[in-house]
Amino acid sequence: MRTSQPQTIYLSDYKVPAYLVDTVDLRFELFEDGARVHSTLELRRNPESDEVSAPLELDGDSLTLESVALDGAQLAAGDYEDRGDQLVVRSVPEQFTLTVVTWIEPQNNTRLEGLYKSSGMFCTQCEAEGFRCITFFPDRPDVMARFRTRSNGNDVERGELENGRHFVTWEDPFPKPCYLFALVAGDLVEKRDTFTTCSARDIDLRMYVEPRNAEKCDHAMDSLKRSMRWDEEVYGREYDLDIFMIVAVDDFNMGAMENKGLNIFNSSCVLASQETATDLAFQRIEAIVAHEYFHNWSGNRVTCRDWFQLSLKEGFTVFRDSQFSADMGSPTVKRIEDVTLLRTAQFAEDGGPMAHPVRPASYMEISNFYTLTIYEKGAEVVRMIHTLLGPDLFRKGSDLYFERHDGQAVTTDDFVKAMEDASGRDLRQFRLWYEQAGTPVLNVSDDYDADKGVYRLTIEQSIPDTPGQTNKKPQHIPFALGLLGQDGQPLPLKLGAGEADAPTERGLELTEATHSFEFHGIESRPVPSLLRHFSAPVRVRYAWSREQLLFLMSHDPDGFNRWDAGQRLAVDVIQSLVGAPDDAEIEPRLVEAYRKLISDTELDQALVAKMLQLPSEAYLAIHRARDAVLRHLAGALKAELIACYQRHQGGGPYEVTPEAIARRSLRNTALAWLLMIDDQEGRELAVSQLSAADNMTDRMGALRALVNSGFESDRQQALDEFYDRFKDDPQVVEQWFSVQAASDQAGQLPDIQRLLEHPAFDWKNPNKIRSVVGAFAGQNLAAFHNPDGSGYEFLADQVCRLDDSNPQIAARLVTPLTRWRKFAPSYSARMKSALERIRDKSGLSRDVYEVVHKSLAD
Ligand SMILES: [Zn+2]
Repeated sequence: MRTSQPQTIYLSDYKVPAYLVDTVDLRFELFEDGARVHSTLELRRNPESDEVSAPLELDGDSLTLESVALDGAQLAAGDYEDRGDQLVVRSVPEQFTLTVVTWIEPQNNTRLEGLYKSSGMFCTQCEAEGFRCITFFPDRPDVMARFRTRSNGNDVERGELENGRHFVTWEDPFPKPCYLFALVAGDLVEKRDTFTTCSARDIDLRMYVEPRNAEKCDHAMDSLKRSMRWDEEVYGREYDLDIFMIVAVDDFNMGAMENKGLNIFNSSCVLASQETATDLAFQRIEAIVAHEYFHNWSGNRVTCRDWFQLSLKEGFTVFRDSQFSADMGSPTVKRIEDVTLLRTAQFAEDGGPMAHPVRPASYMEISNFYTLTIYEKGAEVVRMIHTLLGPDLFRKGSDLYFERHDGQAVTTDDFVKAMEDASGRDLRQFRLWYEQAGTPVLNVSDDYDADKGVYRLTIEQSIPDTPGQTNKKPQHIPFALGLLGQDGQPLPLKLGAGEADAPTERGLELTEATHSFEFHGIESRPVPSLLRHFSAPVRVRYAWSREQLLFLMSHDPDGFNRWDAGQRLAVDVIQSLVGAPDDAEIEPRLVEAYRKLISDTELDQALVAKMLQLPSEAYLAIHRARDAVLRHLAGALKAELIACYQRHQGGGPYEVTPEAIARRSLRNTALAWLLMIDDQEGRELAVSQLSAADNMTDRMGALRALVNSGFESDRQQALDEFYDRFKDDPQVVEQWFSVQAASDQAGQLPDIQRLLEHPAFDWKNPNKIRSVVGAFAGQNLAAFHNPDGSGYEFLADQVCRLDDSNPQIAARLVTPLTRWRKFAPSYSARMKSALERIRDKSGLSRDVYEVVHKSLAD
């Protein structure tokens, strides 16, 4: 544990490594009480380094050093220095072999970094800096080596251990950074399939899971094959090894890990069956399997030079997986889901104490930078390049990037340069998206000159200050728009008076602080449809009237903006009710708009399902007013809700298609609304749906509706029966925990305490912690923000408790408290004091230290 203040690491201090590693030979001896790791490295001085006499410094963490040998000769104690976090050998030749033997204790590794044990199985997680918990090594992504691994005397890549367990790893022909190293050994069953690549090579596909999960692999396997095909067709990327393996692990800090040829997944992100996984889980699994597979090129073949470049692989790969998901389902719905996440969570991060650029300039603990900004905003930045270049030039750019940098560790700048070189576009100003933090704000105003038939749009851009960054420069922003005439028809957008055949949608480019655009030949005042498809991750401010929003909701040809107009209208109505008396009138036009939507059988039902979701509480931070609007809508639209429910009932055998998902989503939304007002008919529908359901989406929909209702005895009975049925399935039990923890009916603090004492709860399992503590603090806003501060104190207790065992997870759980400045004084004072209590804990980890100190800094 730490006693001194953690160091800050700066991008500007980057130096090439002083030593390179050509090969790594690892031999593992795995025992019940620990593991011995024999590591033999072929090293040489880096000709590109100017540190010609630098000592050899290898990173280490929580290792017991047993011996060090140089070119086969054991070193005496005085020849090297073991500093705990570093092994230093002062005098080494130009080229040499170093053999290091260390002892580690995977069974006691609760941080889940390096080699650890999960449900009796050995597994690894080395990104970002876990490899140093296995052996001493230059643990940085720009040191790429060929790895060879053996275990307990087996020198084959895959084999049987003495006790009958499989051992999975292999000799990787491609040099790779150590963060991509992986090893798994456990009592696993194997599921097999094959994929034939575009050049007719047969790839052996294998999944390794615990025997009880053998029937939950099909969806991930199918998703993998679809991903492999898609990457060939859309990016021209073929798989490069003869075998591709996926392993499911219960205790895992992240969602999944793209280790070369051997992806390791959190069980909850890969295992699915109709009985145990919701539609959302099916979609998430498909996206994560694709994401990790796509990393084989965007991450593994071309990797990051240093961790400041993390978005090089993550932003690009999230963009790729979102394109894939859009192609597999509805592009509009996928866009709505991505933007919802961005607006509710990434914008908050961008406006909070941990705000950082897509390419950060400094960090204390890199684990804290696996953020929505690096992933989701990073993906938006790549999407904007795609928009500016168009699909053909973007593909030319990505081909050039992969060709130019194959086998290298590079920077985000190299990525942008390849896009520039392939397209001839100048992206110098665009690079500010990587350097400046904060969400740009676009203030849009307009005026209409009826005599000249000219409509003028003025757009001013500004970027708020963020920690360490003020007076930011204007960024290069693609801004897609359309104009609608009073009859709802799209108007041609003539930028010059004489322009013929003008398009009805334009992609404008903003580069200055202020731009004005004039559209000619406009016969009456149009309704603007701004930032179509959410063409840039910005906030748009424009004085929409409620009439305009209602108009866009039913006429905008851009599905995304149709949805967005509905969201803006709901936000406007909800905000106008804050502090209003309980019987205040709710905008009748909102009720009528929703009535129309619920009964609309022409519009894409997936879009209808999305449009019926009110903006989330996290986005609004106004619980009571949102609740009041929901209840009012449910009361006024009861007949339509029941009709909608019945219309979407049945529908044949269970399928995971966009149409079937939309049907279930609409039915379950109708049910949730009916139970918000404790409707008797709704209650009966929920109870019978729960008992008749043949899939988890419907079962969970009914359970959630009951849990959030006032029908206390039904709620308890439903929860008990559900648990009884699924108690042997950890992934379903996680859902059972979180449906309670996120509910303001069933998730009051004493209930949460009870969940923590439940026999199925496990402090060593990150999924369980997230499903109770994370769901409570992140989704159950009414209970978390109890005016007496008890929710904050509770979270502080759990963070302090976890800080010793799993600091990565502890640092993530702190997030809701770091937003303290956004709340009214009585709340913010209590949130701050909870943070201060965490700050004062002795031996605070570097992970939590960084988050807490930054959020308390002036
Ligand atoms: Zn990734």
